[in-house]
Amino acid sequence: MANTAYETIIGLEVHVQLATESKAFCGDDASFGGEPNTHVSAVSLGHPGTLPKANGRQIELATRLGLALGCKINTHNAFDRKNYFYADLPKGYQITQDKAPICIGGSLSIKIGTTWKSIGIHHIHMEEDAGKSIHTMAPRHSFIDLNRAGVPLVEIVTEPDLRSGEEVDAFMTAMRQLVRYLEVSDGNMEQGSLRCDVNISIREQGATILNDRCEVKNVNSMKFARQAIDYEVWRQIGLVEAGGKVKQQTLNFDPNTGVTSPLREKEDAHDYRYFPEPDLPPVVLSSSYIDGVKAQLPILPEAMHRDLMEKYQLSDYDANIISEEKATGLFFLNLVQHTSNFKAAANLVINRILPWCQEVKHSLAQFPLPPQQLAALIQLVETGKLSNTAAYQTLFPAMLANPAQDPLALAEKLNLLQSSDGDFLQKIAEEVLTQFPDKVKEYQKGKKGLIGFFMGELMKRSKGKADPKVATGILETLLNQR
Ligand code: MN
Repeated sequence: MANTAYETIIGLEVHVQLATESKAFCGDDASFGGEPNTHVSAVSLGHPGTLPKANGRQIELATRLGLALGCKINTHNAFDRKNYFYADLPKGYQITQDKAPICIGGSLSIKIGTTWKSIGIHHIHMEEDAGKSIHTMAPRHSFIDLNRAGVPLVEIVTEPDLRSGEEVDAFMTAMRQLVRYLEVSDGNMEQGSLRCDVNISIREQGATILNDRCEVKNVNSMKFARQAIDYEVWRQIGLVEAGGKVKQQTLNFDPNTGVTSPLREKEDAHDYRYFPEPDLPPVVLSSSYIDGVKAQLPILPEAMHRDLMEKYQLSDYDANIISEEKATGLFFLNLVQHTSNFKAAANLVINRILPWCQEVKHSLAQFPLPPQQLAALIQLVETGKLSNTAAYQTLFPAMLANPAQDPLALAEKLNLLQSSDGDFLQKIAEEVLTQFPDKVKEYQKGKKGLIGFFMGELMKRSKGKADPKVATGILETLLNQR
């Protein structure tokens, strides 16, 4: 249970795998998967005498992310070696940035319900990934896959601004959305393209000091992150309440038990013997290079959401769905160039187009109807020529099957157009009233609800094509004349 005497302080170290074709310091294939140990070379295997070479694409993508987060871009970048021993790190060190990371400061806005909160970024550095150790394939052996060794990463280190599992979830969701908008990463958590280490400490409510923290390693889903945080907060409060002290530690979270357990005493930076990477020269970024990257930034998720609500009067709910992916947002913005009925356009995207894409496993880019056709569909409803049902349940699928046909012509061919033709409707209305003289009397005695019955009969006879507003008007006039 939540103990309100304490506040939870959380900072994250988020690793993002960058969408480059080759690895950070050699030409190996950087894509996910492949047969174990096939995306490797003498460089990624750490053979003596091999030399690293910086990947321009890694630097560009890191710069793009930093600019989107409002960071200061460091013009003088240097690489460092972080030394540690592990079987999936054949060189015995990781190339990373210690003293001069590429991005300093910045922030990311997260959304909790309908309110926004800004989370500070301490810095972002570039580095390479290690390989993967697999301990579950055989009882007495571990296996090593070095396909991931040397894949380019950025590590985003936040300020300790997060206060709950919910906020961590919101931060990771916003980060995933951002890296996808920027096309710097696919943000796929299951494949490890986006993962985080969670630093957790507690303090008495109102205190301003930061206590010793525990780091929970490699939580690979938001559900587990929340569980790990809940458990860790409970454990730390229990420890402090019992008169103990939280020790700085690195912890492992076991998803099967929901419990964290010590992995090792938390290392300090000096344990890694960081020193400048002697085989890579500093990377100097000119201001024209940085301006060039900046000029190519796309619209960002927060701005997209704000525009949808402010310029197009969408609800927060609709704006959330449409701004979730950049492609959806841009599709909507393109559609509203052709119609001013923004709500109808949003409904069409959310209720018809996205479900269709999902069903046939197409991306929006493969959606066959141009915005002009969709705007024409919306207009047929707006002008009363088509009922909502006929438009979206019948005509829309027919348009998808005949993308080249004019929607109006297609609606005519399918006999879907509503009739607002007064003479035609007048004739049917008279037939209906003649057939049900008793009901007409009841209506005239005051049972006005019967108008629904007459409309139903009229609709049946017109085969659903009567414009409801016009037809109701005609029925009422006739009933009052009788
Ligand atoms: Mn790291």
